[in-house]
Amino acid sequence: MSIAPKAAVIGGGFGGLALACRLQTAGFDTTLIEGRDKLGGRAYVYEMDGFTFDAGPTVVTDPSALQELFADAGRKLEDYVELIEVDPLYRLHWEDGYTFDYNKESERLEEQIRAKNPKDVEGYRRFYKYSEAVFEEGYLKLGAVPFLNFWSMVRAAPQLATLQAFRSVYGRVADFIEDEQLRQAFSFHTLLVGGDPHKTSSIYALIHALERKWGVWFPRGGTGALIQAMGRLFSDLGGTIILDDPVTEIGMAADRVRTIKTRSGYTASFDTIASNADIVHTYEKLLGRTPRGKSMTKSLKSKRYSNSLFVTYFGVKKQFPEIAHHSILFGPRYRELIKEIFNGPTLPDDFSLYLHRPTATDPALAPEGCDGFYALSPVPNLDKAKIDWSVTGLEYRDKIFDYLDARYLPGLKENLVTSHIFTPADFETKLNAHVGSAFSIEPILTQSAYFRLHNRDDEIENLYFVGAGTHPGAGIPGVVGSAKATAGLMIDDFGLASPATEKAV
Ligand SMILES: Cc1cc2nc3c(=O)[nH]c(=O)nc-3n(C[C@H](O)[C@H](O)[C@H](O)COP(=O)(O)OP(=O)(O)OC[C@H]3O[C@@H](n4cnc5c(N)ncnc54)[C@H](O)[C@@H]3O)c2cc1C
Repeated sequence: MSIAPKAAVIGGGFGGLALACRLQTAGFDTTLIEGRDKLGGRAYVYEMDGFTFDAGPTVVTDPSALQELFADAGRKLEDYVELIEVDPLYRLHWEDGYTFDYNKESERLEEQIRAKNPKDVEGYRRFYKYSEAVFEEGYLKLGAVPFLNFWSMVRAAPQLATLQAFRSVYGRVADFIEDEQLRQAFSFHTLLVGGDPHKTSSIYALIHALERKWGVWFPRGGTGALIQAMGRLFSDLGGTIILDDPVTEIGMAADRVRTIKTRSGYTASFDTIASNADIVHTYEKLLGRTPRGKSMTKSLKSKRYSNSLFVTYFGVKKQFPEIAHHSILFGPRYRELIKEIFNGPTLPDDFSLYLHRPTATDPALAPEGCDGFYALSPVPNLDKAKIDWSVTGLEYRDKIFDYLDARYLPGLKENLVTSHIFTPADFETKLNAHVGSAFSIEPILTQSAYFRLHNRDDEIENLYFVGAGTHPGAGIPGVVGSAKATAGLMIDDFGLASPATEKAV
């Protein structure tokens, strides 16, 4: 019997965990090394004063990608975690008092569009058809395919051209829909994966079809329960997890990566290494002494990075049943605000917020009679605006609390029990994120697919990448798709057998 090849996965975010499970399933002897004290990365969990706060992703789409991950390992997702469907998918609020429930069912959705602007019903239907077409092409066909060479991009080009991938999401939505608030309702989603709707390729309009077809889900116990489930799956398969021990160096022998060193002094040899850590951090800090590390650092630093986020988590000894699980609170400006978020040079005075109220779906995430929330404000990354977040952070939190108290959560300040903030500076120091970007490389067409960091290094043949910086990009479905693409390459390169699950269309 041949000995299993030894694989290391650096980082235990959604991408690293999904890859580690796939590698262990395929017969690699896999070790996952995470720098922080818990798995999850952006999906970390804070437990404070009886409240459970998911730090990052809360909108779980495409459960089939997760089911497939477990099925390929011969297990069932539902034996590990329960997913609950969320309805409405989002509730959208504007400052003029207009509210729109973003539903999965056509009838309820169209009823609301008709009430707002009857002419847009027909346009919406045409937009949905378009969204389905990009979903087929961009997600089902290309979402988990590694774009390693230029020809793979050329092969996809005719379809991408037909779908007008060179246009922006907002531009395409505006082709079909006339009402400005409805245009915002059907274009804001790219902000959830770090893209400006006015610049991000219209391929990302696929998110609309993905959500309408497969819904929005929330794990019982929070997103952290899904992370725990994936960690448990990996351990059940025989994988090894090392926590609280950041990798400090990847060592090379000849032209291959070979060893890993960590802060605690742990050193081990591997046949192959995959990094789920930030892509600039991996080349600059872990491979910085090698010529490849140096050249790739320079090349990656010349790219455009997505915005950052300011997030405040808070618990209140009061409940707000009228607030939906997922709310988008549009501020007074849309296009101009987004432009400032992506380009700086300062922190805009106004904001648009995503408000998370997980207790709407799972009351066990807060003590009885209480509600737990987080409010997220997209803000410029550390390169675009020079802000001292150690000073600005608490002031900004108070400004958000004032706004929420006055408009959406009356009594919030009076009933506040606990709170915590996470700023762009924390993205940089706690997650090693280049310029504090929340979503890595910005998802514009010239930085997508072949033009994104490849899932396998072009020169070091046993070094791989997984997660938001690689194809297809940020978001849970994106990084779980990238894990499938990267695992496929590693399995082929090491001559192991791939599970043959076909994705349901
Ligand atoms: C606040 C927020 C809300 C979001 N909401 C949603 C949402 O609702 N739905 C959605 O689909 N997506 C959402 N996203 C995007 C999504 O969370 C991310 O794109 C995705 O989780 C990124 O996963 P990843 O595998 O690329 O890496 P990460 O989660 O970034 O994990 C990388 C891991 O590598 C570790 N690491 C770094 N350096 C080292 C080192 N030297 N040694 C060892 N370990 C290291 C880090 O500690 C981290 O755990 C959100 C993101 C944020 C920040």
